[in-house]
Amino acid sequence: MTPSEFKQWGYRFVDWISNYLEHSDQYPVLSNAKPGDIRKRLPSKAPQNPEPFDAVLADLDGIIAPGLTHWNHPSFFAYFPTTGSEPGILGEMVTAALNVNGMLWRTSPAATELEEVVLDWLRELLGLPTGYKGLIFDTASMSTFHALAAARECLTDKSVRDDGLYDAPRLRLYASEQAHSSVEKSAMALGLGRRGLVHIATDAEFRMDVRALEQAIEADLRNGYRPIAVVATIGTTSTTSIDPVARIADICARFGLWLHVDAAYAGTAAIVPELRQILDGCERADSFVTNPHKWLLTPVDLSAFYCRRPDALRNAFSLTPDYLRTPEGDSVTNAMDYTLQLGRRFRAMKFWMVIRHYGVSGLQTHIREHIRLARMFASFVESDNRFELLAPVPFSTVCFRLRGGDGDTQQLIDRVNASGKVFISHTTLKGKLAARLAIGNLRSREEHVRAAWKLIAAQS
Ligand SMILES: *Cc1c(COP(=O)(O)O)cnc(C)c1O
Repeated sequence: MTPSEFKQWGYRFVDWISNYLEHSDQYPVLSNAKPGDIRKRLPSKAPQNPEPFDAVLADLDGIIAPGLTHWNHPSFFAYFPTTGSEPGILGEMVTAALNVNGMLWRTSPAATELEEVVLDWLRELLGLPTGYKGLIFDTASMSTFHALAAARECLTDKSVRDDGLYDAPRLRLYASEQAHSSVEKSAMALGLGRRGLVHIATDAEFRMDVRALEQAIEADLRNGYRPIAVVATIGTTSTTSIDPVARIADICARFGLWLHVDAAYAGTAAIVPELRQILDGCERADSFVTNPHKWLLTPVDLSAFYCRRPDALRNAFSLTPDYLRTPEGDSVTNAMDYTLQLGRRFRAMKFWMVIRHYGVSGLQTHIREHIRLARMFASFVESDNRFELLAPVPFSTVCFRLRGGDGDTQQLIDRVNASGKVFISHTTLKGKLAARLAIGNLRSREEHVRAAWKLIAAQS
């Protein structure tokens, strides 16, 4: 592509993106594609000869866009919504253009140092103390994996990096029964096995029962297991409940366990001063993760990971072949020393642009507004006696159901999603099916939340 062709296509694609963002509500929010529909319309072999870019753009419009579930749609209320914000999109464009690989400081000093700076900004906004080393990962799942790998390395007498788990004691990990499945996947990948993760019961508001945690650890110690870490969650995936981190930190201190806090969705809300207390106790965590790509207007993917014991991460992952040795030595951060991966995308760029474009005040306004809208929606649910709320609403996620039972609630969710106008998801709470509406997309405004309630109420 010549420079002038690139400019021409660049402008056309920016126009395409801008139009798409403005009119994403003209697509069904949940794609109505059937399995195989999209594949069927695409050639099975790569084009032998160059194709005009017009043809690519036509297929983007004709085949791909209709086959998507539109996360940019203002009525996307499923899972945890995200925002492809304009400054974030521009950041992704620049990242792609620069195409630097930040595996070492010298392979792009500004990539490493900008990552350190934006993560320091965020750490301070969250009210976490200095002394945490920040690293950007793609997802919270990978952040948690790295935290638990570090815990495993420093709490097993033998060096797992050198000897593997052969002959090691049976390791144990603890998280509430509401914790995210990524904790269990880490246990699978780190050789603890799924049975190495103990699911701790929760109270009536879905928070970890600290007494049950203590008892589980004591029982494991009596039975010859080696407890290594507890994962506390701030903003659990189903109901956004908040584990009592300070009390869990006491227990970790008493038994010498690593405390990892998974605040993937809700953690970023602590940038709002009146919500700062949701992170009480996190200043004692060994590691902490929150995802700006969920609620902080940053396009997928960007997970912010903080670790107070970077030496443990290094012990778990540093391995420098001769050809990657550099003269800067320890005076700089070489990200590859702390991570499983070598290559590293320049993700900090988009986050930097997002923070600078909105400013802290803009980000705070956005979080506050979504919490207001969720409370408004919850009040609609409460004022209609056909419905009930199934959990408190500390953030922007509402779990509710029809009093009739699972069948009626399932039918409600199916009808709402089949409308193409609103997309909500579901979960199971204490054996009951719940519909789950989460607000997190910048483009979701009061009118969309009101319309969603109107649709839901009309289906019932
Ligand atoms: C979303 C979420 C995750 C998983 O996040 P990924 O970045 O998709 O890996 C983990 N934990 C919690 C609490 C979450 O909300």
